[in-house]
Amino acid sequence: MENNTDKKLYVISGSSGVGKGTVLKGFMEKHPDFMLSVSCTTRKPREGEQDGVNYFFLSKEEFTKNIEEDKFLEWAEFAGNYYGTKKKYIKQCLDNGMNVILEIETNGALQVKKKMPEAVLIFIAPPSLDELEHRLRGRHTEDEATIQKRLGEVKKELECAKKYDYTVINDTVENAINCIEKIISGE
Ligand code: 5GP
Repeated sequence: MENNTDKKLYVISGSSGVGKGTVLKGFMEKHPDFMLSVSCTTRKPREGEQDGVNYFFLSKEEFTKNIEEDKFLEWAEFAGNYYGTKKKYIKQCLDNGMNVILEIETNGALQVKKKMPEAVLIFIAPPSLDELEHRLRGRHTEDEATIQKRLGEVKKELECAKKYDYTVINDTVENAINCIEKIISGE
């Protein structure tokens, strides 16, 4: 996909419960020239989530149609649901003069890097695996089966992280934000 602006695409991944949502929220509040991309998903909305704000919530049929019509920059199946980023949406955001952050899982991130090698991939890692499990259970948003599925993804994701441009350890939110700021100013 062509990007004719000086704006950049940043891809941020991290295992479930690593706290990337909190880190990103803190980062976005400080950087109004960055926007967080809204993905499509077939997962059901969690309490408080809004269509068009947190995700575009699609049926499986709608999602599959978009795949067939080659509408996605990347897409992946994660813990039993589909997630994807629309090409047209990203192009519009960049053309509108925004730096765009995709908060997506690792398979999708590596697809983006293939199609847009100039995209910068940042992996947010937990200080330890025990700490990650503790955080995942602590947020009480998933049932046990879902937690197990998500923990199963963690090891695979840490392997993929080796292919990222940068890894940031989320020991404290403030440190992680500082690290991301340094990476971005270096780029
Ligand atoms: P959640 O269901 O907790 O919102 O997200 C589950 C996983 O899907 C997270 O790792 C999140 O980063 C990832 N994800 C969200 N949107 C996308 C997307 O558009 N593409 C891909 N590949 N992963 C996504």
